[in-house]
Amino acid sequence: MRYHTHVVTSLAIGAGIASQTSLSFTISYAAGIIIGSLLPDIDEPNSYVGRRSLGMSNKVKQAFGHRGMTHSLIIWAIMAAVLLSESHSLFSFGFIIGYLLHIIEDFFSVQGIPLFWPFQTKRYKFFITYRTAGFLEMVIFYLSFALFIYIGVNHHLFSELFQSLITFLRRLL
Ligand SMILES: [Zn+2]
Repeated sequence: MRYHTHVVTSLAIGAGIASQTSLSFTISYAAGIIIGSLLPDIDEPNSYVGRRSLGMSNKVKQAFGHRGMTHSLIIWAIMAAVLLSESHSLFSFGFIIGYLLHIIEDFFSVQGIPLFWPFQTKRYKFFITYRTAGFLEMVIFYLSFALFIYIGVNHHLFSELFQSLITFLRRLL
């Protein structure tokens, strides 16, 4: 899945989660989701984050391979536990959700992912899969985009986002 599909799909589901829970759809929650949804591909030098990782991506790929360690549920759970023990900020929740959604989204890809690394190197995938940059991925992108707008408008998430942006900017100035 390409980076913009990860971002839009994760934002749409993240908005859905915010609309059904006490989590507020603020700028830090949204930023957490976006960063979390991009970070797992740090192990691919040609990915959006990989190209911006100042060479770190090559080292991760050499050490663990693409779609290795960073796409493991075990690693995600450890990271989530560490992060939550440090802070309960909306950014942390967004990041944890965004990261998990990336793993789930790649679970539906043809290549599959090693969900239980380092205990197992076997790659798992759903029985219905999409190809990276294929037609189905394009459909997923537009459907997620529409869903995001729909949830955002219906649950007044965009005004919440805008309010938090104003507060954030005020604090900066
Ligand atoms: Zn990935």
